[in-house]
Amino acid sequence: MHSVDVAIIGTGSVGIAVAYYLVRDHGVRRVALVDPLPPMSLTSAQSGENYRNWWPHRVMTAFTDHSIDLMEQLDEASGGRVNMTRGGYALVTRREQPQDLIDALHLGYADSPGQIRLRYLENGYVEPRRMPWQGSPSGVDVLLDRALIRRTFPAFAEDIATVIHIRRAGSISAQQMGSLMLEAIREAGGTLIRGEVKSITGRTPFTLEIATPDSASTSILHADRIVNAAGPGLQDIATMLDEDLQVECVFQQKIAFTDTLQAVARHQPFAIDLDGQTLPWTEEDRALLASDPATRRLTEPMKGGIHCRPDGPVEGNWIKLGWAYNETPSDPHQPAPIDTQFPDSLIRAASRLQPKLAAYIGRLPRAMRHYGGFYTQTAENWPLIGPMATPGAFVAGALSGYGSMGACASGSLCAAWVVDQPVPAFARGLAPARRQDTALMAELAGLAKGTL
Ligand SMILES: Cc1cc2nc3c(=O)[nH]c(=O)nc-3n(C[C@H](O)[C@H](O)[C@H](O)COP(=O)(O)OP(=O)(O)OC[C@H]3O[C@@H](n4cnc5c(N)ncnc54)[C@H](O)[C@@H]3O)c2cc1C
Repeated sequence: MHSVDVAIIGTGSVGIAVAYYLVRDHGVRRVALVDPLPPMSLTSAQSGENYRNWWPHRVMTAFTDHSIDLMEQLDEASGGRVNMTRGGYALVTRREQPQDLIDALHLGYADSPGQIRLRYLENGYVEPRRMPWQGSPSGVDVLLDRALIRRTFPAFAEDIATVIHIRRAGSISAQQMGSLMLEAIREAGGTLIRGEVKSITGRTPFTLEIATPDSASTSILHADRIVNAAGPGLQDIATMLDEDLQVECVFQQKIAFTDTLQAVARHQPFAIDLDGQTLPWTEEDRALLASDPATRRLTEPMKGGIHCRPDGPVEGNWIKLGWAYNETPSDPHQPAPIDTQFPDSLIRAASRLQPKLAAYIGRLPRAMRHYGGFYTQTAENWPLIGPMATPGAFVAGALSGYGSMGACASGSLCAAWVVDQPVPAFARGLAPARRQDTALMAELAGLAKGTL
């Protein structure tokens, strides 16, 4: 039996970041991280490790900008261990002058006007390069000229009419970031406890009953404050406190393989096809898929958001693709609902934007990796960071498909909430108490949910 100032439940990217900022910024040393699994091994191990500051709302832009600032600090201070690159995000559509998308950019970047550059000509446009973040362009280039798009992105299909190139975006190594934070936590005296929190009783101090990973025995931990950073287990912890966080878990998948045919240019930014589509099946396949209720939807119009990027070093040949089209929540305690049809559907869909990928239809390499994890999310797809209803309990989670890029800001904001220090104005919109703000909730209900 022992006691700590703060117990953090969950050693994914988010829980680790909360502990890191508690020890680094607030000198809290008696911190324990509790998890039955090795650090960074659940959802955080499945991340595509992409980041961007593009959101259709200024609060989320401020949140990710804050997180990117913190990641850059970590990267710089560690001599580049976070491995941040900044090739950008290329959002692609066949629509000419898509005013709704341009309006959404203005909404998202409302606090830093002048960042959006509409480009009909090449002048001043810095071509995409997977480069270090230092000295890279920021803001957004909206390419509206087909000739310019063809020259810049020759691998894209010829019907592409607009490319929105988000510049403060790229990739990180979330695993490296987690390890370097863990080193600092351990150095400062923080501890890791291997076990699953089974019950929480008492209040400040809380009494946590912790079962060893094999459930052979339990131990007790007392903590003045607790942080719920349990990822897909967020609601389990909330239930122990008689609270409902209103989150759901939706399984999403990715594939990665060696692009031996060089279908994807190594300097290409993370490219997202925004347009919905109906997948091109043969008549025979279509009839077969339509006859099974589990696969019928693959024959119907599907949502956009198919994404693809080169992975690893520029001189390598791995590529990663994903498509968060699943919208059906599932129980995270049950086996992962991995969809064996997913790689084939995805490569067909992705070849609409990058026609050379069609060569892999029916021929995906045997060594392909097909993996997935849960997007733990709220209805409005904003995270929950801040005090729970129970005094002394805090939450940092529901980071959906953006928890690697959002981990640092989640950690620093949650740490400030825990020690009762001021938080920036935007952080109030991310706290569970936002649900009492009917005007904000009505505004969010009107926003389209992200597709990534
Ligand atoms: C396919 C996929 C691709 C993604 N791509 C990106 C991307 O490109 N960029 C990006 O920013 N984000 C991405 N994400 C999202 C990102 O991976 C997650 O948002 C992030 O990893 C969530 O971290 P977490 O710490 O909240 O949760 P997790 O990593 O799931 O950690 C939660 C931990 O809590 C523990 N836990 C649960 N219950 C208990 C309990 N009772 N007691 C003790 N411990 C408990 C679990 O064992 C787990 O280790 C992606 C996610 C998926 C699934």
